[in-house]
Amino acid sequence: MNRVGLGVWSELIFFLILLFMFAIIFLFNTITVLHKVYLVFHFLMMLWPISQFAVMTTENPQLQLFYLKASFVGLSLLGSGWLIFAVFLTGQSYLLTKKRLFWLSLPSLLSAAGILFNPYGWFATPIEGAFKDRHYGPFFWFTLITLALYVLISIYHLYVSHRTAKTARHRLQIILAAIGILILSSFALADLVVNVLLQGQGIIVIGLTSWGIVLSGLYFLIAIQFFKVFHVIQLDQKDVLDSMSTGIIVLDEHGIVLDVNSAIRPLVSLRPGDFLDMSRFLAPLHIEGDLEAFLDAYEKRNPEGAQIEIAMGSDSHISHISIYTAPIFDSGMALIGRIITFQDVSELRRLVDASHRQNEVLQERNRALMIMQDELYKANQMLEQMAVTDSLTGCYNRRYLMQQLEHEVMTNMRYQIPFSIFLFDIDLFKNVNDRFGHIIGDEVLSSTAAVVKKMLRRTDILARYGGEEFSVYLPHTNQEQAMLLAQRIKEAVEFNIIQPGPGNQPIGVTISLGVLSVDKGGRMSVDNPKAYLRELFSEADAALYEAKHGGRNRIVSISRKA
Ligand code: GH3
Ligand code: MG
Ligand code: MG
Repeated sequence: MNRVGLGVWSELIFFLILLFMFAIIFLFNTITVLHKVYLVFHFLMMLWPISQFAVMTTENPQLQLFYLKASFVGLSLLGSGWLIFAVFLTGQSYLLTKKRLFWLSLPSLLSAAGILFNPYGWFATPIEGAFKDRHYGPFFWFTLITLALYVLISIYHLYVSHRTAKTARHRLQIILAAIGILILSSFALADLVVNVLLQGQGIIVIGLTSWGIVLSGLYFLIAIQFFKVFHVIQLDQKDVLDSMSTGIIVLDEHGIVLDVNSAIRPLVSLRPGDFLDMSRFLAPLHIEGDLEAFLDAYEKRNPEGAQIEIAMGSDSHISHISIYTAPIFDSGMALIGRIITFQDVSELRRLVDASHRQNEVLQERNRALMIMQDELYKANQMLEQMAVTDSLTGCYNRRYLMQQLEHEVMTNMRYQIPFSIFLFDIDLFKNVNDRFGHIIGDEVLSSTAAVVKKMLRRTDILARYGGEEFSVYLPHTNQEQAMLLAQRIKEAVEFNIIQPGPGNQPIGVTISLGVLSVDKGGRMSVDNPKAYLRELFSEADAALYEAKHGGRNRIVSISRKA
């Protein structure tokens, strides 16, 4: 090879390096797999016209052969490229296992190898020492036949998928691809007929295949740009998706992964182009929730979406992941894909659990507090009762009577309501104690109080005034009524016989009563109610004293105006 030849080679190598870099940028950046497959397909298409052009630019048969080989290698690979593109387009890329991919591309690879090595000139031999005009050998025909077969199989695959395609959008996508492939293959066929089969008939149409390639390329471009058939998510949204803490998977209608964001990586190892079988994916995981209902909603494309929780990780650190799936519909309500989100809800779960536990403790404390409050209330009531009650007789004590009277007497005065006060004392009670002892004396005391209490109204107040002396406050009671009641009480006590245990005589006591009745027509108010009460009680006491001196077991009644 001469110096000029070396220069040409280095330029070519630079071109290939640049091409390679261009491919890297697209292949390893986030565009959908469909885009990537299309890109490879497009490169193969570009290889034909550039090489065909190059053949014409040199007189060097070696270089001519090289360019010729390059264009035909591109063409031969285009066959399997079409088929793979068609399979991807119909959403069946999951069928393309590595093994199948190998067998599918084998004819293409074989013809490419045949062309490259050109053994015994089985691909092409020069006419008049140059390859501008050439004879084609069996490898050329092998390439054309495999190409034709690839086209036929691709078209057939697209046709079958078109019939089973569920959405209008998807059908359009398939038709567009089929038309593109047909345009290209008809031009290539025309090229073959005119420039190879009819060679020497004087008709030469240059670049027919290139025309086909460019036209179908143009057609794909228009389809991609205007019908947006490859658009699934806008690329600028990708940044937003990647910055989210929620893992996101976008599937197409066949369950093929179109896109995943970076948050998904620690949770699920899925890449665009993979097939996600939801029930298989969930099977080995620990599910928290109704798996059947979730899968049912997923399969039936429930528009509301479905949610389930899974637990991942070891015992020491379990992550709770909430999976939510929702279908994506186009404007005609046809399913065009699904979006699945994975959210780590462990922290939320921990907080909810902790707050539940705290709530329970609080409720328990609340219950205990309520019980304590109830007990306190009862104890308080008892204390209140005790504070106003005389423990021996069960009637009110003197302090309570005075407290009530301070208020009652003032009201009576203001509204001119008559009232009466009794002060009575058991006659010769000392004798009872002396004869029967204090304990029986106590019994007599409480029995007498009980008898009196029975005779009174609910609004009357009976209080132990001191020792064996009692007082009764009678609201709305004038002297006449008071006298009647005093008489009845006196008799009731007299007839109340106490039987103080076996071996003792029955005991009967009498009482002497001082009755003070306060009638209306006096003062309307007093400055010092306590002093006024003292005044009233000393008058009642005087009446009682008089009754005692008059011979006991009797009533002395006095009346006054307020
Ligand atoms: P009278 O009133 O008719 O003049 O004669 P009396 O014997 O009742 O006279 P006095 O008032 O002097 O005596 C009252 C007695 O009542 C003195 C006291 O021992 C007794 N007494 C006072 N309180 C109680 C008590 O709570 N229980 C008993 N068993 N006796 C009491
Ligand atoms: Mg007495
Ligand atoms: Mg007394």
